[in-house]
Amino acid sequence: ELPHLDTITGVADPGQVQGSEIVMRVPPLPERPFDSASHAPALHPQQRVTKPAQQQFEIIGVLSKLYVLMENAKGLVLVDQHAAHERVLFEELRRRMEQQGVPTQKLLLPQTFDVLPRDADWIEQNLSVLQKMGIGIESFGPDTFKIDSLPSFLDVSDAAQFMRKVIDDLKSASNSASPMRLGEEMIAKSVCRHAVKANDPLRYREVEKLIRDLLDCDLPYCCPHGRPTMIQISLAELEKKFGRKI
Ligand SMILES: [Zn+2]
Repeated sequence: ELPHLDTITGVADPGQVQGSEIVMRVPPLPERPFDSASHAPALHPQQRVTKPAQQQFEIIGVLSKLYVLMENAKGLVLVDQHAAHERVLFEELRRRMEQQGVPTQKLLLPQTFDVLPRDADWIEQNLSVLQKMGIGIESFGPDTFKIDSLPSFLDVSDAAQFMRKVIDDLKSASNSASPMRLGEEMIAKSVCRHAVKANDPLRYREVEKLIRDLLDCDLPYCCPHGRPTMIQISLAELEKKFGRKI
């Protein structure tokens, strides 16, 4: 079951947010978190990195309904809740795609659409990939296809128009990409709209789950678009800013 953080409207209860309440065992941040802002390549299961040694974090609270504040041995850690949720959703959908295909939703009315012959060839060659991505597509005559279902995490009003866009996107991405990478591109493009936003107030236990899920990710330090999910402000930096150290 996907986390439905985007539907939560409850207000964080300050009384529940006590730093000493939660102690989690999680991996340490990299020395220079901003390095992860460059585009991160997709990892396949056999390539997944081994988690670094465990380290303690404590959740302090949420700043401005956006930044989760945490403390670790080095100092302060800020997590962008939107970027963090994007990363969590992305890896969850990718895992489903690899294992059994993403969850789909039947269209009320199956739709047929025509494509150029060269696009038809491309679709024929990639039918199984498209189906694993949750697109229920089949051949329906020469250069014509029928769609009867779409990934349920997408919000699509015109299935044929959506498919033309997907095919354009994926064809341009596919020159150097593996088939699964095509699905990752689609997921990365759509996941943003479904993640919790800045200003979505989260309950404390939702924040806790988000952080736990994030730290379970293969690449917890950046969102699928390459932006950082968390940054570290060290105690040494704070000492400098407060003039305790020259
Ligand atoms: Zn992003």
